[in-house]
Amino acid sequence: MDAGSCNACSTAGTPLMKYSLGKDFFGRAYDRLSPASDQSPKWYCEPCSMMKNLQRDFRDIRTEFDKLSKGQASALSEPEAKQRAQLRLREIAAIAGTQATGSPLINSTDVTQLIEQFHAHA
Ligand SMILES: [Zn+2]
Repeated sequence: MDAGSCNACSTAGTPLMKYSLGKDFFGRAYDRLSPASDQSPKWYCEPCSMMKNLQRDFRDIRTEFDKLSKGQASALSEPEAKQRAQLRLREIAAIAGTQATGSPLINSTDVTQLIEQFHAHA
């Protein structure tokens, strides 16, 4: 079974990786094949597979930050987790910034905005 081309950048003729069960940024079990917003299995080439990991971490962190800023229970309530998330965001911003044409998976403006929100919240 082969999807033929990368689901993110449409590159063909390169080894593709299928997403499978893993852990999210906060160590929770995460089924990458069937998150609510992602009903069908996806295939990614190596660079996009890396960006997909960044995108997943970014989404997790943003979701938890939203809860935190609304005063709800959040994985970021732990100062250690919050610090780790901020470091990861900077890493994501740095890697996303090296993509010459920008990745279809990560919007570096969104990442920068979240970093600023973290600072504002501190
Ligand atoms: Zn790709």
